[in-house]
Amino acid sequence: MDTVLEKLKEGILRFQSEVYPEQAETYRKAAREPQRPAALFVTCADSRIDPELITQTGPGELFVTRNIGNLVPAYGEMMGGVSAVVEYAVSALKVKHIAVCGHSDCGAMKALQHPESLEQMATVKRWMRNAEAALSVADSLAVPDEKPSERLQRLTEENVLLQVQHLRTHPSVAGAVAREELTLSGWIYDIGTGEVRISENGERTFRSVSKESSKA
Ligand SMILES: [Zn+2]
Repeated sequence: MDTVLEKLKEGILRFQSEVYPEQAETYRKAAREPQRPAALFVTCADSRIDPELITQTGPGELFVTRNIGNLVPAYGEMMGGVSAVVEYAVSALKVKHIAVCGHSDCGAMKALQHPESLEQMATVKRWMRNAEAALSVADSLAVPDEKPSERLQRLTEENVLLQVQHLRTHPSVAGAVAREELTLSGWIYDIGTGEVRISENGERTFRSVSKESSKA
């Protein structure tokens, strides 16, 4: 017996018997109408991140794309899934916001610091090139006697800022931002504490989301 698949099937049955009935009308409404998500959420494939849970959003609210390292290749660099998602989200779905969300303890960021760990994974290694500039920036800002955890945190932040910059190279994004129909932000999600820090309005600083800050 395939125990992993069996466990997933048990989850489906629990969803159908416990979760769905409570929100049946929400799901029926979502099925009746075309999707109109207000935001595109770009995050890491890391299994510990749950975008809908941390933002408390439901069906139809977030257009999500995930990949190793929450990367957005600059326009023309690697035309593929991510570029298509960005173009579709902005041009067809007309999302009003794009958030790039990095996270604590990111394996992709650690691999960037230790490229030798990717020697046996040519595809991942090539993909991580989209984050190389973040490593140079983070290294150039390094201070003496810094803890490895601080270095990793800075790299994670610089990577998010870099991917937000890459977003701006996509014609659909550049146009919508210029028309003030689209805004961008960079997030850092701390898996262990639940804290989310956000860089908005093009700032380099990530500020913790608190009741005070969200009122302002
Ligand atoms: Zn990650």
